[in-house]
Amino acid sequence: MFNLILFGPPGSGKGTQSANITSAFRLEHISTGDLLRDEVSRQTPLGVEAKKYMDQGLLVPDEVVIGMISGKIDEQADARGFIFDGFPRTKAQAEALDKLLEFKNTEIHLVLALEVPEQELVKRLVGRGATSGRSDDNEEVIAKRIKEYYAKTEAVAGHYNAQGKLERIQGSGTIDGIFSSLSKEIEKYLLPA
Ligand code: ADP
Repeated sequence: MFNLILFGPPGSGKGTQSANITSAFRLEHISTGDLLRDEVSRQTPLGVEAKKYMDQGLLVPDEVVIGMISGKIDEQADARGFIFDGFPRTKAQAEALDKLLEFKNTEIHLVLALEVPEQELVKRLVGRGATSGRSDDNEEVIAKRIKEYYAKTEAVAGHYNAQGKLERIQGSGTIDGIFSSLSKEIEKYLLPA
C-alpha cells in the first residue's frame, strides 16, 4: 500500500490535483470536505451538526471527522493506496490517522504540501464561489477558513516533517506543471498505474 496526504491551505488546489493523481496512480481518494458535503446534502444527523461549523469557516470537531474517515478506510481494505485530501487538519487528526493506519499494518508514506501565496488563495476561492455553489466560498467565510488553517492545520506539516515525510511543492503555476512536480515525488515510491 502507498498512502499520501495532499496538504495545503484552502484554495491551494488539493481537489484538482487529487483528481489527477487518483487517475494516474489509481489511488483511492478520500476528501473529508466532499464526505461532509455529502452528509450535509443528505441531511443526516452528522451533516446537520457539521454544517453549523462549515458555514462559519470553522473546522468540524475532530471526533466527527475521525469517525467518518475510519469507516471509509475499512470500506476499501484492498486499495492500492489512499490519497487523503483535506485530512488530517489538526494534530489530533494526524495522530488518529497514524494510529488507524498502524492498526492496518501500514502508514503514511509521503505528505506533499502545496504552497500558494495568501492573496492568490483568496482570489482563487472568490473566483470559485461564483460557480461552485458552495456557501462557504464567500469573502467573509474564506478569511475565517484561512485563519483556521494557520491556527490549527499548519501544525500538521510539522508533525510529518518530524517523521521526515514532508515535501513542499510550489502550488502556483499551471495545473499541468504542478501535477508534474507532484508526480515526480510520488514516483519515488510508486509507478503510475
Ligand atoms: P477547502 O480546503 O477548500 O477549505 P474542504 O472541502 O476541504 O475545503 O472543506 C470545507 C469545510 O469542511 C472546512 O472549512 C471545514 O469546515 C470542513 N472540513 C473538511 N475537512 C475537515 C477536517 N478534516 N476536519 C475538520 N473540518 C473539516
